[in-house]
Amino acid sequence: MMMIDTADLTKTYNGRGGCRGITLQVPEGCIFGLLGPNGAGKSTFVKMLAGLHRPDSGRAAVLGLPLGRPDARRKLGYLPELFRFQDWLTPVEVLRLHGRLGGLRSQETRSPAFRGRVRDTLELVGLSEAANRRVGGFSKGMQQRLGLAAALLLDPELIILDEPASALDPIGRYEIRSLLKRLRSKGMTVFLNTHLLEDVEELCDEAAFLYGGELLASGPLHKLLSGTGDSGDNWRFRLGGWLPETRAELNAEAGDALSSLLRLVEADESGNALLSARVADREQAGYLCAAFIRCGLTLYESGPEPNSLEDWFLRMAGSRQGGDPQ
Ligand code: ADP
Repeated sequence: MMMIDTADLTKTYNGRGGCRGITLQVPEGCIFGLLGPNGAGKSTFVKMLAGLHRPDSGRAAVLGLPLGRPDARRKLGYLPELFRFQDWLTPVEVLRLHGRLGGLRSQETRSPAFRGRVRDTLELVGLSEAANRRVGGFSKGMQQRLGLAAALLLDPELIILDEPASALDPIGRYEIRSLLKRLRSKGMTVFLNTHLLEDVEELCDEAAFLYGGELLASGPLHKLLSGTGDSGDNWRFRLGGWLPETRAELNAEAGDALSSLLRLVEADESGNALLSARVADREQAGYLCAAFIRCGLTLYESGPEPNSLEDWFLRMAGSRQGGDPQ
């Protein structure tokens, strides 16, 4: 089952901003990253999923149920972007309050079962020791982990996190990442709204890219980043038989213009070499391969290099610059 499934989902603010026509699927058990520059429409989209904004048009199902259904809300944990707990409360009190907000009766939040649940959740986020300390003295990382505990309290199948690490220092980010990996290993689906590329690179199985309120790409991360061989891609070539004089021979064989694209990345004493080139198209890569062969080199491997996430992000954003419909 898809944990999130939207079709043509649209929400604008009096016809401006927001996000438009978003069709997106999030499979079960993955960490999904929603990427995009500021103002791309990420928060608007996430707030619709969490039931805080009503869509103008389109369809969406969360956990197989239409948006806003109470039974779906119960299985969904949500961590808003900016939140603050009352300084004078302790984590145990914060979680009891969240139990009440989640629809439990006062009596239920005093039951041994619920108290056990609170203990387990605080343990999961690493706040057992601070369970009865006041939140006022907490670091940002601890507050964020408490926010996650609140989102996790009622044992959701899906959690939606709006910029969970943006205000954290490297240690706080590390803690949140480890925790999210642990949640995935327990089978939970995590939907992450973030502009931190490192988080997406390290954590996410799938990702989507929003820009100017529109979805430009989505799918498994490795597919999004795999080179297509199209214009501007970096190609890499693994060769055998490389000698110090090979470079000059290549210049003669391939012509200066073509061979000037080539960069020697590494070569060892046995003649194994790795070269890369930013080619204009596949044909150009083919000419280079032919030149290698003519120079007596052995071509072991050639193909487009995967893009870094940063390259991809900039390229996606650049492809729309000036064409922003807003
Ligand atoms: P992101 O989370 O990617 O930064 P948002 O969803 O917050 O993007 O915003 C998308 C667009 O909608 C922006 O142009 C923003 O100015 C506009 N917008 C967001 N919230 C409101 C609002 N409450 N009223 C009017 N415009 C808004």
